Order: sequence, then C-alpha cells, then structure tokens
Amino acid sequence: GEGLPRPEQTRVMVVANQKGGVGKTTTTVNLAASLALHGARVLVIDLDPQGNASTALGIDHHAEVPSIYDVLVESKPLSDVVQPVTDVEGLFCAPATIDLAGAEIELVSLVARESRLQRAIQAYEQPLDYILIDCPPSLGLLTVNALVAGAEVLIPIQCEYYALEGLGQLLRNVDLVRGHLNPNLHVSTILLTMYDGRTRLASQVADEVRNHFGGEVLRTSIPRSVRISEAPSYGQTVLTYDPGSSGALSYFEAAREIALRGVGVRYDVQHAHAGA
Ligand code: ADP
Ligand code: MG
Repeated sequence: GEGLPRPEQTRVMVVANQKGGVGKTTTTVNLAASLALHGARVLVIDLDPQGNASTALGIDHHAEVPSIYDVLVESKPLSDVVQPVTDVEGLFCAPATIDLAGAEIELVSLVARESRLQRAIQAYEQPLDYILIDCPPSLGLLTVNALVAGAEVLIPIQCEYYALEGLGQLLRNVDLVRGHLNPNLHVSTILLTMYDGRTRLASQVADEVRNHFGGEVLRTSIPRSVRISEAPSYGQTVLTYDPGSSGALSYFEAAREIALRGVGVRYDVQHAHAGA
C-alpha cells in the first residue's frame, strides 16, 4: 500500500469502551492491518488478558511468551516482546498472555503504576506511525495505563439499544486522566461497528451517536459481516482473510479516513460500500 500521508509523530490511539463485545479488538486489529497495508508502520499493543488481539494477528501468546505483562510489571523493554505479524508487512504486536489477568492487582503496589506503559512506549526506539492499544472491557489500571500512554481515544460503538449507556463513565475517566496525568488526551474518533443499515434501530442509534459526538464520528461505518467474525479463527485479519469483502473494504476506508484526519486533510467518501 501507499499514497496516504504519514503522521509527523507516532499517533497513539487507545481503543476503549468498557462494554464487552462492541468490537474493540476487531477494530484494533483490522484498523492496524489496514493502516499497515496503506504503507504505515503500526504496533498493536494487546492490553486484554484474553489475548484476543494477539490471537487474531496470529501471534503466539502461550504462557511463556514474553508479553506486555513483562513490560508493565517486570519493566522489560517493549522491544523485547514485540513480534512481527507474518502476513502483513509493517505490522507488529506486543502480545498479552494470561499473566496479564494478575497485573491489575500487581500494578497497585508498583511505583508510577499509571504510567508504566507510557514509559515503555517512550523508550521504544523503532520508528512507528501508529500504536493501537486494545483495552480490556473495564476501566481499571490497565485501561488507565493506556489512557496515560495515548493522546487519542477511539471508541467503537455497536449500533444497538443502550449504545450510549455506560459511555459517560468512560468519558469521565478520560476527563480525569486528562486533568491529572495526561493533558493531551482527547476522544478523537468514534467508529460505528456492526452496523446493519437495513434496520431502523441501527440508523436511529447512528443518528443519536452523530448528534451526541458530531465531528468525532467517522463517516465510514463498519457493517455486520460474517467474514469479519470468521477471520480471527484463522489467525488473520479480514484484510488478508477476505480482502474484497465489505468488512475488509470498510476497515480499509476507515483507516484512510483516520490517516487523512490526522494531517488535517478533508475526507471525501471514495467508495460506496455496504454499511456506509
Ligand atoms: P470487544 O473487543 O469489544 O469485546 P470484539 O471485537 O471481540 O469485541 O467483538 C465481539 C464479537 O463480535 C466477536 O465475536 C467478533 O468477531 C464479532 N464482531 C465484531 N465486529 C463484527 C462485525 N463488524 N461483523 C460481525 N461480527 C463482528
Ligand atoms: Mg476485546
């Protein structure tokens, strides 16, 4: 891939929503792969003890593999745990192992417990255009570490009832972290996921989200697509599993929109695709 402007500085994007099953992991890995296919160098940091992002990227993350746990709790350099994703050039992953489930507690007694990920990222010397952090479905110390490390929050929202419910808590946490620990932090991007344009409910929720958030909402939305949900069981993103599918095209388009916004270029809808 080529042709997209690259950010001047590494953009660190925190993919967060304390609700489970809204598409955080799916969005993290597919956007990351899309950005890499557009020519960017991208690191995915898996911050969920479930390790779903690691699985979806085909990254080995059994218990003995050096992982983000070692970075957070044992102060291991990030470069010691980063692995290349084999089928996408320019894409890398810092995996999560099951150890990470204990980190939420272990971090409590460590110095600078909220900024351990930030320090590890700052010490990482490989050039990167994007770091995407996949958060667990909670607002504990792991998510706080991500919010301290990043400047941008990307919130995937599933187009269903109660989509906005619970977001208030995330937004308050973003405000708290901005006020105390990370003045640069802001919600830069809202992405509508699992969008089914045939239902009135989905379009009502989409309108509600657009009214509530305005310009942060990407014009590209992600359709509900079986291909998207199948890809992880092959250790692949939908971008390599089925590049022509509506799911792959929509993530590729969302990545283009994010890249253009990052350098202040007006985005014009280029492709008409399912779900847009
Ligand atoms: P989270 O990380 O927020 O818990 P996931 O990304 O794991 O959410 O998604 C939850 C489930 O929904 C997964 O089984 C995933 O494969 C599926 N899924 C996510 N996005 C889509 C989509 N656009 N179309 C179909 N299934 C999807
Ligand atoms: Mg997840």
